[in-house]
Amino acid sequence: MELDAVVVGSGPNGLAAALTLARAGKSVTVFEAEATIGGAARTEETTLPAYKHDLGAAVLPFAAASPALEEFQLESYGLEWLHHQVVATHPLNDGNGATLYRDLGLTAAGLGRDSASYRKLLNALTTDWPEFKEYSLGPLLRVPSNFFATVRSGVLGILPATTLTNKLFKTPEAQALFAGCAAHAYLPVNRFFTSSFGNIFLTLAHTTGWPIAKGGSQSLVNAMQLALEDHGGQIVTNHRIGQLADLPSSKVRILDVTSAAAGKLIEPLQGISTRRVKRLKNIRPGPGAWKIDYALSSPLPFTHKASRKAGTVHLGGTIQEILHADTAVCAGEMPNSPFVIVSQPTIIDDSRGPSGSHIAWVYGHVPNGWDQDATPIIEAQLDRFAPGFKKLVLARNIQTPSDFYNQNSNLYGGDITGGSVAGTQLVRRPFFSPAPYKLGPKGHYICSSSTPPGAGVHGMCGWHAANLALREEFR
Ligand SMILES: Cc1cc2nc3c(=O)[nH]c(=O)nc-3n(C[C@H](O)[C@H](O)[C@H](O)COP(=O)(O)OP(=O)(O)OC[C@H]3O[C@@H](n4cnc5c(N)ncnc54)[C@H](O)[C@@H]3O)c2cc1C
Repeated sequence: MELDAVVVGSGPNGLAAALTLARAGKSVTVFEAEATIGGAARTEETTLPAYKHDLGAAVLPFAAASPALEEFQLESYGLEWLHHQVVATHPLNDGNGATLYRDLGLTAAGLGRDSASYRKLLNALTTDWPEFKEYSLGPLLRVPSNFFATVRSGVLGILPATTLTNKLFKTPEAQALFAGCAAHAYLPVNRFFTSSFGNIFLTLAHTTGWPIAKGGSQSLVNAMQLALEDHGGQIVTNHRIGQLADLPSSKVRILDVTSAAAGKLIEPLQGISTRRVKRLKNIRPGPGAWKIDYALSSPLPFTHKASRKAGTVHLGGTIQEILHADTAVCAGEMPNSPFVIVSQPTIIDDSRGPSGSHIAWVYGHVPNGWDQDATPIIEAQLDRFAPGFKKLVLARNIQTPSDFYNQNSNLYGGDITGGSVAGTQLVRRPFFSPAPYKLGPKGHYICSSSTPPGAGVHGMCGWHAANLALREEFR
């Protein structure tokens, strides 16, 4: 019997696509290449027995804000959110730094001379967020439902983060806090549109927060699997799709693969032009990640005290240092002082290891495909802000860019962004279109983070692709 739909890949977007179709009463099967579902949102015991480390995503601000995941009601399938008392910090030298709380006023109060400017910016952004969210978590080439709120927030995001912070902030702390959030763009922070990343990460901190999933990000994808099965969907693991002809017959095919991989899969089919295939294959990858997971005897000894309680810690120093680091990375060079992100789940989640145990999740920005040893440079950055941390290390596990690719073929060269967001690729993901999920041949869609709204655990790419398929193929 023909299926209504098949989905290739069980990352958060593939699962969201499958679940959206299953909830609409369609028969769906997901094919996953690896033994475990979840893609870059898996959790495994990679250091010591019973120590659970997130292989990819660890902190889930976009998941908490996602209309798709809200619709799926994953809490009724076992998902539990946990919020740190301190959302994030950005330590500087000498134990100084900026502290980001859920509470906007408390955060602003800690920013000294920049208190009023921070309050003004974030008050405006959080007020407009309910309307802007709908627009920013989807294709950018469409008319927003609330035009004025979207334009207000959108315009503020166009500027390079260096320009916005120079204009608004005087203290190194406020500038660094903003730049650390903007650096999630994986671009030098003097590029246009990097402010949009700073704005959105800070807005999320003051609205739905930056929670973690109890037990690790795997809990979120496991809840999606349970919800999918509850609606009649199926997942087949250990089953890589090398060509679309290997798939069972179905009306719709949705691909949770990179745009380059989609180009290769779709090439033999009728209904797609050579130009479109070329476009898919030629998407430029973003830089890479170099990750180190630690099993620790106690929490990281940050000199900046608030960092000891923070869910996320951005290590990169001043805005100028962050600019320098990501400029080098984007030019294919390894900086001496890279931008590094730390997550500390065990401060609030005692289910990640044996009683009283601690873990830390750490990754640094490196050039795409970097194959020289970046561990000493990343550990030096960690030691700069948490001196002596090495004495606490019980075990560590390193994931290099090629390890990432071997674990998940969507992470080409360690690119965690589904393709760079530099230049036109921010809106041309993969096509300039209000429906960029549509590949061309009838019933074929792409739904990975190579499509809007891009990287992050939110399932929105899958949700948009599946809703488009429902409108186009199941009317
Ligand atoms: C180190 C790292 C840190 C991150 N940190 C965060 C974070 O803290 N917060 C956050 O929100 N996001 C984070 N992300 C990004 C986030 O994890 C991704 O954006 C998200 O997982 C993308 O989901 P996806 O479904 O598009 O793809 P993926 O999660 O990559 O899943 C794709 C799946 O498709 C499968 N697949 C690919 N090709 C085939 C094929 N031919 N046949 C069958 N199966 C196939 C893969 O095996 C994989 O399981 C991080 C990612 C990494 C790697």
